[in-house]
Parts: sequence; structure tokens; C-alpha cells
Amino acid sequence: MPQKITLFTLGGTIASTTADRADGARVSLTGDDLVRSVPEVRALADIEVRAVRQVPSGDLRMDNLVELARAIEESLAGGSDSVVVTQGTDTLEETSFVLDLLVKDERPVIVTGAMRNPSLPGADGPANLLASVRVATSGLTQGMGAVVVFNDEIHAARLVRKRHSTSTAAIGSPLSGPLGHVVEDVVRIFLKPPGRLTVRLPPTAPDIAVGMVSIGFDDDGRLIRHAAGAAYDGLVLAAFGGGHVPASVVPALESLSRAIPVVLSSRAPAGPTLRRTYSYAGGEIDLIRRGLIPSGALDAVHARILLQVLLMAGVERPEIAAAFEDVLTAQGPRMIGRAERVNRPEPLTSAAARPPSTAHEERGNA
Ligand code: ASP
Repeated sequence: MPQKITLFTLGGTIASTTADRADGARVSLTGDDLVRSVPEVRALADIEVRAVRQVPSGDLRMDNLVELARAIEESLAGGSDSVVVTQGTDTLEETSFVLDLLVKDERPVIVTGAMRNPSLPGADGPANLLASVRVATSGLTQGMGAVVVFNDEIHAARLVRKRHSTSTAAIGSPLSGPLGHVVEDVVRIFLKPPGRLTVRLPPTAPDIAVGMVSIGFDDDGRLIRHAAGAAYDGLVLAAFGGGHVPASVVPALESLSRAIPVVLSSRAPAGPTLRRTYSYAGGEIDLIRRGLIPSGALDAVHARILLQVLLMAGVERPEIAAAFEDVLTAQGPRMIGRAERVNRPEPLTSAAARPPSTAHEERGNA
């Protein structure tokens, strides 16, 4: 019996065409059009197409992704062997990571897109879709969380970056390299992530806004001071190198991190933030002592998504720090968050009268 794949389509360049060159490309193709453009995929699996959105990926919202994660779990529970998602590449590194965090099912979830739209010579969408279906039917990414298949490479969603604005090789994993590739129709996996972290959201998760600020040379920190009045629920700081800022920015960061979780990440294209190397004012030791949460090896773009999802789950600082510690290196499955932690009762005035923490964390296949 052929395998069953559900193809969820969200728009993006892979589904865009140009009616008139002067007018530019717009999202216009349906999921059925995409499948028709690569007849080989029908020979590999039964494909059920589900059109979710028809938008540039910059217009996707977190609630679209939460709904998509639920729809993916339902389709897998309802008999699909795997899932492929097509969307724009502009935010694919973020959306695929949301699916990685939210979809608990172990079966393959593949995200892909294209850099050249189908009206251009050398359009890459059909090849990316075919490679994605091959990876999906191979079952080889089972248990690895969401992966991105692009330009015949397979990348872990938590590590993948859009590294170039136009190249068909735009998608890569600067920290680790690809997990595997598809060559001559054969799917090969070279590296396996050690485990995975998933987050359980309450049935109705709150809207959470997380900002991201990058520090620059001779920066006086005024954006950080403004962030304090912007009603963010959390902030990710893309700091210099191993997690450093000019000394003059430290007071603003310290006061912000007393109000909301501030995650210390790096603006460098790859590599971890440090913890115990530089103790000068604005060095990572100093910033961590003042309450900033190190992102570990998670880049700022992914750190922003992890912080947003954790806050939606009602997770508090110690667990946020532990999640950043674990997200790339968790051994085996680890789930964070539970519904009861959000919508908690109004805080009581007396610390002694406070109900015991509902902090909850599971290891194993919960
Ligand atoms: N603007 C497009 C999008 O992200 C770019 C792409 O798909 O490559 O929707």
C-alpha cells in the first residue's frame, strides 16, 4: 500500500507566479498546482493536499502555526504516515522551529519552499518538493522533530538558517551542517540530533510579544531603553560575539531583565554564547549575574521563538533557562509546560499563602 502524506500549503515563492513581469510575483498557485508540477510525487505516495494559507511567509502569525501544529497532529493521528509543509523561505527558519517545538508526534514533518518562483528558469520548488516527499516516505527523520529539506539537503529545524537572500543554496545549518542529503533518489542521514525538546501549550495560549534587539558598534542602548516601555513580554538580545555589550548599556539591560525575561544571544552568524570567560561590565558573566538568560548555542532568531513559545506555555524563569540549556542537546525526549500553568489564580499577597509551584516537567514519552 502506498504511504499517505498530508501536504499543507502556506504560500511563499514556491506558490508564486508572475502574470506580468512588470508586476512582480504574487502567491497564486494552489497545493494541487504544486503537486501537478512534479508528477513523480504521486508515484511515491498518496498525497492529500490541505491549503492552509496563501501568503508571503512574513505574514504568517504564531496563531496560524499553533493551528497548523494541531492540524498536523490530527492528520498523523488520522492515518497519515508523514507531513510536508510548503511555505515562503523568509521565515521558514522560525516556522519550522515552532512546529519542531509543538508537534509531539514522532512521524516525519518536513518543511520546504523555493528561492526561484515557478515562472523563472531554474525554479527550485519542484525539486525541493520531490526531495521532501522522498525524505518523508523514507521515514529516516522519524523522531528527529521537524526538518527542512532544501537544495537536496536535510536540516534540523532548530539549527537551520536562511543564510542568503537570493541563492538557491540559501538554506543551511551554520552551526552543525546538514543532517543528511538526497542524492540520486536516495535519502541518507549522517547525523542524528541527540533528542528533542517539545512544549505543551494550554488549549488557549495567551498572545505573547517577544522583541529582538541587536547591539551595534558605538550603540548607546536607546532601543533597549525604549523596549522597557513597549510592553514586550520578553526580549532577545543579539549581543556581540560570546554575549557582550558596551558597559554603558548594562544598566538598561539590568532594569529590563528585572521586568521581563531577557535572553542573551549572539549576533555572530553561528556559535554559542559564553558563560564564564569575560567578567568586565557588559561581559557575559556580568550580564548573566544581572539576570540575563544565556541562549546557549541557539541563535537569536531561534531564541526569540523558543522564548515566545515558553511564555505562551506559562513557563517561568528557571525552566526557561533550563529549556535554553537543553534545546539543542537534550538527550531523548523532554516535554515542558502544561495547561494548568497558564490562567493561574491572581497572585496572593502573602508569599506563605502562595500555592505550591505548579512547575512541571516530564522526561520520557509523555
Ligand atoms: N517572500 C517570500 C516568502 O517568504 C520569499 C520566499 O518564499 O523565498 O514568502
